Amino acid sequence: TLMSLATLCACVAMPLAEGADPAIDAKVQALLARMTLEEKVGQLHQVAGPDMTGPTRPEGKNIDKRADIAAGRIGTVLTVKSVAETRALQDLAMQSRLKIPLLFAVDVIHGYKNVFPIPLGEAASWDMDAIEHSARIAATEAAASGVHWTFAPMVDIARDPRWGRVMEGAGEDPFLGAAIARARVHGFQGKGLGQLDSVMATAKHFAGYGAAIAGRDYQAVDMSQQQLLEVYLLPFKAAAQAGAGAFMNSFNTLNGIPATGNAMLQKDILRQQWGFDGIVISDWSSIAEMVPHGFAADLADAGARAINAGNDIDMEGYAYRTHLANLVRAGKVSEKTVDAAVAHVLTKKFELGLFDDPYRYSDAAREKEVLSRPEHRAATRDMAKRSMVLLKNEGNTLPLARSARNIALVGPLANARRDLEGAWIVQSDAAHVVSPADGVRNHAGKGTRLTVVPGCDVACTDTRGFGAAVRAARDADVVLIALGESFDQTGEARSQTSISLPGRQAELFARVRAAAKAAGKPVVLVLFAGRPLVFSELASQADAIVYAWLPGTEGGNALADVLFGDYNPSAKLPITIPRSLGQVPIFYSYLSTGRPIPETEGQYASIYTDSPNTPLYAFGHGLSYTTFGYTNLTLSAPRMAGDDKLTVSFDLQNTGKRAGEEVVQLYLRDPVASIARPMKELKGFRKLRLDPGEIRRVSFEIDQELLSFYNDKLHWGAEPGRFELMVGSASDDIRLRGEFELSK
Ligand code: BGC
Repeated sequence: TLMSLATLCACVAMPLAEGADPAIDAKVQALLARMTLEEKVGQLHQVAGPDMTGPTRPEGKNIDKRADIAAGRIGTVLTVKSVAETRALQDLAMQSRLKIPLLFAVDVIHGYKNVFPIPLGEAASWDMDAIEHSARIAATEAAASGVHWTFAPMVDIARDPRWGRVMEGAGEDPFLGAAIARARVHGFQGKGLGQLDSVMATAKHFAGYGAAIAGRDYQAVDMSQQQLLEVYLLPFKAAAQAGAGAFMNSFNTLNGIPATGNAMLQKDILRQQWGFDGIVISDWSSIAEMVPHGFAADLADAGARAINAGNDIDMEGYAYRTHLANLVRAGKVSEKTVDAAVAHVLTKKFELGLFDDPYRYSDAAREKEVLSRPEHRAATRDMAKRSMVLLKNEGNTLPLARSARNIALVGPLANARRDLEGAWIVQSDAAHVVSPADGVRNHAGKGTRLTVVPGCDVACTDTRGFGAAVRAARDADVVLIALGESFDQTGEARSQTSISLPGRQAELFARVRAAAKAAGKPVVLVLFAGRPLVFSELASQADAIVYAWLPGTEGGNALADVLFGDYNPSAKLPITIPRSLGQVPIFYSYLSTGRPIPETEGQYASIYTDSPNTPLYAFGHGLSYTTFGYTNLTLSAPRMAGDDKLTVSFDLQNTGKRAGEEVVQLYLRDPVASIARPMKELKGFRKLRLDPGEIRRVSFEIDQELLSFYNDKLHWGAEPGRFELMVGSASDDIRLRGEFELSK
């Protein structure tokens, strides 16, 4: 049962990331003692701005948000962004009886003024320093603009590219996802809350949101407890350990219980087992949504269930605003429960220094200076080039020679600006985005002629421009074709039943390619997308493929850095690219069937009759302009026991002619266990830069924790026996294998 799940996973209990500050505690208690019940409820009520004229829920009609702030009935506001906006509202809060400052939250997801690649793109870098730095810059800009709190990172595991929010996470793998969760929390929060360049991070959406049935946003989630604990909760646990100040629950039901009203998740696991002492916030009106879910009778009942299950703040749902005080008076919610929730909010306000100075993040001169820093813009380019995956490079088509005379850049994304930014942008200006055409123009040599012909718009229903694109391809020495999705095809509520290229883009590709091939010229396919697309046919026909995601402000320059070889690509897929939609969901860490074909990997007698089981491009895949050799695998011992650590080492050599970075990947398998284990699971990775010819000895440590899993009794632990280890360049490109024993 759910309760036994919570009790049994006590084994993963952990100490608080930071000890609570007793001085702040005392201040919080003193303030609480002075607050009326309505004022307490106010601290738990979050409203959306910047338009403060009225609530978005019918239940709260005719409530003036500004008047509510001045009356101390609102504790936090979301989506106000700028010193001017936040200052004006803080002025109102200072008119309230207790002058409790407002907390301002914004979805700062991948940059603020300067837009970084979408999070899934950043994940492809497998570069924890770069990812942390990206969040650091976003935080610096947001905090300078009066923002205290970001609703990021989204750490939901996603294995279904139909789901539009796949763009906002770190992909399919819990180990990589946990590492990225840590990097992002550290990046956003910097040296800690209260620093003028940090914002409070929120791990969201707790939990299971990415596993919506059929990839349809907000859908029900049904999964085994092992899956939940081992896969979906792992990045959340990492975020809590990294000190994330807040958690956001989610819209979905999890095994029938809405996450927002889920005490097992929010109280037993998050607070009790993980020791989390920050804020738990609902998702947008997710408390009210428990009524249509069929879990609460009405808005009042939903409010009671939410707070009793550990949800502190009601985001724009009006359940608390309308009913919480009465629920306390009626004995349905204890005032102690309310006090505990309010204490979480007040503690963060103290930690952020808002009681010392409610305007400390609101300095217009600072805002102006910080938002125009050139190094922030430069960082978006650096991150973007690290995120672009070289999927294919037949005959060394890339990098392009700078001496190329005649380059054709065709395709509907050739001049893209807004589309390169993706969903969830805050303060940016699309006019400042570097388009692919700009980027290639900036990089090409003086004598190069660049012809840019989009051929159609992104929706690509009108083929009248195809002819011009074909002519440009015929006359060129090399053809770059930029295809993909628009910025609003991924993001919240952007699920799709088709994840192929929009409209007639594939047809444009076929015609352009035919023209180029007739002239004997190579075709480079550049894909911009917020999700893995299905493009098998194009993949087999392109000479080279760069998967550029939605790369942000400097996307065009970063692309050109990669195309011309100023940057040697190093990214690897954080999520599988399927051959066809029918393979979805597809991920590398699957369980074996009972019918594998001997001597093969991933091939089964149990098959599709019309397709191989293997994906188009596997998790971890990504090429470089150099090559890497893996040799000399050794283990420090053939077996381990107890607290032993076993070291696996190997030589990595840059066997090509250019300096480059490789992401080495360690996978483990427990081939016989009391509960069947995946064929392989990522358990280590490292990104290393090597000069041509350079050899580096690389080591990973293996301990029992790394071998542990939840058995059918939900006990966490490793089982004695033989383990297989695999080291390689991708989940389907294993170069070295070994094995060892875990003894009793
Ligand atoms: C999303 C959240 C987001 C919130 C506030 C919701 O619809 O699911 O991720 O933080 O809106 O914008």
